[in-house]
Amino acid sequence: MNYCFLAGKYQGTAVQHKKVAKVVLEWEKYAHIHFKEVDDQTATIRITFNARSGAWANPGTTANDVKEGAATMNLGPVKADDEEPTDLEKGYILHEFGHAIGLGHEHQSPFMDGEMKVGRTLSQVYISMLVAQTLR
Ligand SMILES: [Zn+2]
Repeated sequence: MNYCFLAGKYQGTAVQHKKVAKVVLEWEKYAHIHFKEVDDQTATIRITFNARSGAWANPGTTANDVKEGAATMNLGPVKADDEEPTDLEKGYILHEFGHAIGLGHEHQSPFMDGEMKVGRTLSQVYISMLVAQTLR
């Protein structure tokens, strides 16, 4: 799946882009999927870093309905400081890319007691999202 950083006000910095590129590799270890950063602004996943908009992503193929030039994912909590992503930033990136490949919300899993939690490791994020997905 291709992703791009959407040009404009919320394009983010090289540091933010590097954090995303590094963290998404985690998915490739466990899921049969490859995320590729491209310059093409019509990429399937179009990322912005609007700090006031939180973290969200259009789940799975619903991203195809988003109009061209608009974001399909926002990673507001991923900051431009520090080269190394924090555990929380990793959790947000893994979680939102989980949505991008069509996984459901962790809080939809009965094992999460209806609580929204940002997992800190891929296994936590992946398993809880996967469980939510299979129970939906
Ligand atoms: Zn979510």
